[in-house]
Amino acid sequence: MRALRWHGTHDVRVDQIEDPAIEDPRDAIIKVSATAICGSDLHLYNGLMPGMRAGDVLGHEFMGEVVDTGAAIDNLAVGDRVVVPFTIACGDCFFCNERLYSLCDHSNPKADQAAEAMGHSPSALFGYSHLLGGIAGGQAEYVRVPYADVGPLKVESDYSDEQLLFLSDIYPTGWMAVDNCDMRPGDTVAIWGCGPVSLFAIRSAWMMGAGRVIAIDRIPERLAMAEEKAGAETINFEKEDVYERLQEMTRGRGPDCCIDGVGAEAHGAGDPEAVRRDPDSGEPNHPEAINEMIKSCRKGGRLSLPGVYTSPVDGFALNALMNKSLSVKSGQTHMHAYMPALLNTIEQGLIDPSFIITHRYGLSQAADAYAQFNAKEDGCVKVVMTP
Ligand code: NAD
Ligand code: ZN
Repeated sequence: MRALRWHGTHDVRVDQIEDPAIEDPRDAIIKVSATAICGSDLHLYNGLMPGMRAGDVLGHEFMGEVVDTGAAIDNLAVGDRVVVPFTIACGDCFFCNERLYSLCDHSNPKADQAAEAMGHSPSALFGYSHLLGGIAGGQAEYVRVPYADVGPLKVESDYSDEQLLFLSDIYPTGWMAVDNCDMRPGDTVAIWGCGPVSLFAIRSAWMMGAGRVIAIDRIPERLAMAEEKAGAETINFEKEDVYERLQEMTRGRGPDCCIDGVGAEAHGAGDPEAVRRDPDSGEPNHPEAINEMIKSCRKGGRLSLPGVYTSPVDGFALNALMNKSLSVKSGQTHMHAYMPALLNTIEQGLIDPSFIITHRYGLSQAADAYAQFNAKEDGCVKVVMTP
């Protein structure tokens, strides 16, 4: 089959490799019909994520058709159409029973390196380095899905792939980002970034009863999409002082909830050369977006960090965080807990997630698609590829 493989920083190629096969009775094989590139893939593309090996198959946002099932799978049949969550969870460990699926204890047993850095390793993710399982991803013609008895969500055929695909990550991620700041109806929510995750956070905040949503970025097309397709007020951080503007907009109190939809490239904004690095370690080191959130948030407010970090961040304003009684929640999305309810919002007509797609390519054009999405050029907000 053809699959997109990582060969090094800024070097991804569509290669001919062997088809995946069932390795465990709880596996299924999916023929991929659509797959997207995520902001998280850019951390791999830009060489920020440790644990990548040349030849790793990329991609964690995908859907398709079941073509083979292991002996223990009785919830899926060949021919079923499914959206696959990007986190891999066994469904029956302590953490899965707590519905903290992205912390599954069983899906990532080999994660010694991650455990060393973090104390305990999170679950495995598709196509996301050997720290997070070393599982081949779905930017390919076929993909092996472990624990297929608990992950894949069966979907009906009257919705298009483009309407359903983002249930695999960024719609639940945007939703959990809002959920994680314990938003109350009427709250003012400020969101750093107007990328795909943030755009879904804006839409989710409205569905959950926000009073006001303010989104921050510098890219004109993304700011326009946040206003026109998601209904947020916006701040261009290159043109205005974000803290001052937020103070002004909230009569000096600050937003109730602040969401970091940026993550590891806060200062790169798509340009890896511009990522601020620690002069000694060379690690990406970028406290400003988070510190701007801490400074801007109202006293007693709530921060949510869906943005992915690939190394420690120095200079994090713990003094302000503590003295302002702020609370923080973070995490890879507990996908399995959100997908069925969010499928319902699509079926009820509350949202058509395809609003976000700006570029469509065949898998063979993946290298160009990555470069374009990384550069955030030509109004590129979200790329969907069809194998
Ligand atoms: P993206 O790279 O397309 O968007 C990030 C946006 O942030 C860009 O538009 C960029 O211009 C903007 N930005 C950069 N610096 C900024 C600053 N200082 N202030 C405000 N905006 C700034 O990425 P995405 O696909 O929207 O993903 C966003 C983040 O969420 C990434 O870190 C990604 O890894 C992460 N993510 C997390 C999960 C999860 O489960 N927690 C899932 C998916 C993605
Ligand atoms: Zn993703």
